[in-house]
Amino acid sequence: MRIVLMGPPGAGKGTQAKRLVDKFGMAHLSSGDIFRAEKAGGSALGQKLAEYMDAGQLVPDQIVVEIMAKAITSCDSPAGLLLDGFPRTVAQAEALDAQLDQAGKSLDGVVVITADEDEIVERITGRRSCPDCGKVYHVKYLRPQNDNLCDKCNVQLVQRADDTEEVIRQRLAAYNRQTEPVIAYYRGRPNVQTLFVNGTQPPDNVTADLVRGLEQLKTEM
Ligand code: ADP
Ligand code: ADP
Ligand code: ZN
Repeated sequence: MRIVLMGPPGAGKGTQAKRLVDKFGMAHLSSGDIFRAEKAGGSALGQKLAEYMDAGQLVPDQIVVEIMAKAITSCDSPAGLLLDGFPRTVAQAEALDAQLDQAGKSLDGVVVITADEDEIVERITGRRSCPDCGKVYHVKYLRPQNDNLCDKCNVQLVQRADDTEEVIRQRLAAYNRQTEPVIAYYRGRPNVQTLFVNGTQPPDNVTADLVRGLEQLKTEM
C-alpha cells in the first residue's frame, strides 16, 4: 500500500501514522520530521529550512521535492509507504506522480484527517515532544505518565519552535491556500481512492476509522 496522509497541522497525522505503521508495517516518511532533523543538524540546508518553518510558511517546492525524492527512493518497500506531510502543494503532488510513474509504481490512496480551527489551535499549543525519540504527547489529551517526561526516555519534553499561536495561524493559512487544492487534485484521479476521517474524536476512534478505511482499500486494490 502506498498512501498519502493529509490534514491540517495538528489534525493528528503524526500520531496516527505511527499507529498505522505498527498495524500495517509500511515505511513512514514524515517531511516535517525529516526537515526538523536537518534543521537540528545545523547544516546550511537546515538553516534554509528553518527560515520558512519558523515563520509557518511552506518550504519552496524545489527544495522539498529534492529531499523527499531521495527519501522515497531509499524507503519505498514491498510493505508500502505512508507519506505524512508530503505532498503539500499541487506542484509537489505532480512531482511525486512523475517519480512513481518512472519507477512503475503508483499511489493507492489519499487519507485526509479533518479537524476544525479551534481544535487545531488547542492541539498545537498543547503539543509536546521528546527531543530524543520524537514521541509526541499532548498536555491534556495524550499525557506522559510522569509530568513532562518522555515515557520511554525519561527526558524533559519540549515544544516545537513553530507551535505558537501566531505561527499556527500562518500554517493554517498556508494549508488552506496551498494544500487544500491537493485534495481536489487527487479526487480527479480515477485510480486513487480518497478517504476522509473525522479527526475530532478521541485518538483510538480516529485509529479505528483509519484502520477500517485502509482495510477496505486493501481489498479493492
Ligand atoms: P504539522 O505537524 O503541523 O502538520 P509538519 O511537521 O508536517 O507540520 O511541518 C512543519 C513545517 O515543515 C511546515 O510548517 C513547513 O514549513 C515545513 N514542511 C513540512 N512538509 C512540507 C512540505 N511538503 N512542503 C513545504 N513545507 C513543508
Ligand atoms: P500533526 O502531525 O497532524 O501535526 P500530531 O499527531 O502531532 O498532528 O497531533 C497534534 C497534537 O494533538 C499532539 O499534541 C497530539 O498528542 C494531539 N492529538 C493527536 N490526535 C489527537 C486526538 N484525536 N485528540 C486529541 N489530541 C490529539
Ligand atoms: Zn523519548
